[in-house]
Amino acid sequence: MCGFVGMVSTVPVASSLLVALQAIQHRGQDAAGLGTREGTRFHLTKDLGMVTQVLDARKIEQSGGTAGIAHVRYPTAGAVSTAQDAQPFLTRRPGILLAHNGNVTNVPELARSLADSGLHVLSQCDAEPILLVLAEELTALRPSAHTTADLVQAVAAVYRRVKGAYSVVAVMELDGVETLVAFRDPHGIRPGCYGTDGRGSWMAASESVALDVAGFKRVDDLPVGQALLLRAGQAPQLLPVVPASPRRCVFERIYFARPDSVMEDGRVNRTRWRLGRQLAREWKAKGLQADVVVAVPDTSRPAAMAMAEELGLKNREGFIKNRYSGRTFIMPDQATRTAALRLKLNPISEVFEGKRVILVDDSIVRGTTMRRILTMVRELGPTEVHLAVFAPPVRHPCFYGVDMPSEAELAAAAWPAEQVEARLAAQLGADSLTYLSIEGMREVVGGPLCDACFSGEYAVPVTEAERAAILSERRG
Ligand code: SF4
Repeated sequence: MCGFVGMVSTVPVASSLLVALQAIQHRGQDAAGLGTREGTRFHLTKDLGMVTQVLDARKIEQSGGTAGIAHVRYPTAGAVSTAQDAQPFLTRRPGILLAHNGNVTNVPELARSLADSGLHVLSQCDAEPILLVLAEELTALRPSAHTTADLVQAVAAVYRRVKGAYSVVAVMELDGVETLVAFRDPHGIRPGCYGTDGRGSWMAASESVALDVAGFKRVDDLPVGQALLLRAGQAPQLLPVVPASPRRCVFERIYFARPDSVMEDGRVNRTRWRLGRQLAREWKAKGLQADVVVAVPDTSRPAAMAMAEELGLKNREGFIKNRYSGRTFIMPDQATRTAALRLKLNPISEVFEGKRVILVDDSIVRGTTMRRILTMVRELGPTEVHLAVFAPPVRHPCFYGVDMPSEAELAAAAWPAEQVEARLAAQLGADSLTYLSIEGMREVVGGPLCDACFSGEYAVPVTEAERAAILSERRG
């Protein structure tokens, strides 16, 4: 998973891009980058690290350029990243600056076909083949001075050649005008939106919070199956390329996006609240009893509040999250791992002691963190601990941009579907485990969704070879 911001204006854009990028730091902490176009020149800074480590605000303030892109990159588990893998990427012919969020599933095939025409992929980042395909298709039409019609043809070719999920922003000159181009794959799996400051500047971003902090008003989501052209002082232009068949990622709503972001189905916080209310109804139907509802912070808070309200129970903060503990590294033994968890998430003992507790979380992937949380909570003397997850069991890997392990490592993939709750509850040390049903989730979120990690129904087919390549890269 990654996050991008693109902007076009009549004034320098670098400072606004930097501010907006910090609002979506949660989408990637591995690397950051910012590039701008100033006349015929491009400026580009990118490296491994968080936004404030990589991008020096004082230098950025002095950068010129009235169009640009900034990006944060999510770590690929196990894979060794270098600064070369950071986005945005730049081609000299024609001059295009580009970044994306998603996961291209046929990178090896693209790399071979590009190499056959003398274009070599140098990085391990899948934005590079997207950029090279776009550049190759444009230069096949003419070497420079590209038009809007050229772009439509080139994006159509990207749709034909590039498989997987991708939300793309690019800065280039079209019809002799500096243009911010945005397009999503024909399923629109990964999110994106755009907005204006009302003074002729335009911004496109992975999440609407980026627009909010930079003083832009969200206009709409990025189109699906169409290219969007944004130019300073002009109205947006939508160019149909292929028929859209939307399948937006439901996991963004459950886990990944910031709660204050707005997506096609509304405010993410509200969606989480409604998922929690639906989960409460399904929990109640099991005839279970409890005294208090506690969220595993932070994502689960709205769902826990809604569960408590629906069940007529108290909702209490049971954990204090340490914002400064940084990443959890691989710890050599159980004692250090427990200490690391407490450093990150310290429980308030009286919330648990002698109570029947519902512990609410967003998902269980490998189950290791949840097992440690339950061990920690059990030591505080609750009479019962019921685990409630406001999503269905994750039983399949994601190949569209969320870093999930193979089936063999997914906790909920170990048993037949009807046995998962009982078997996993026993394994984790909970008195019960209730997942939200797939039907309940689909009803709450609505619309055409990608929920392949829950249902196994993949919007874009992934061949066995592609699956193996992606999972092996994740293992590093
Ligand atoms: S498989 Fe899951 S995480 Fe991946 S895009 Fe689909 S819903 Fe999102």
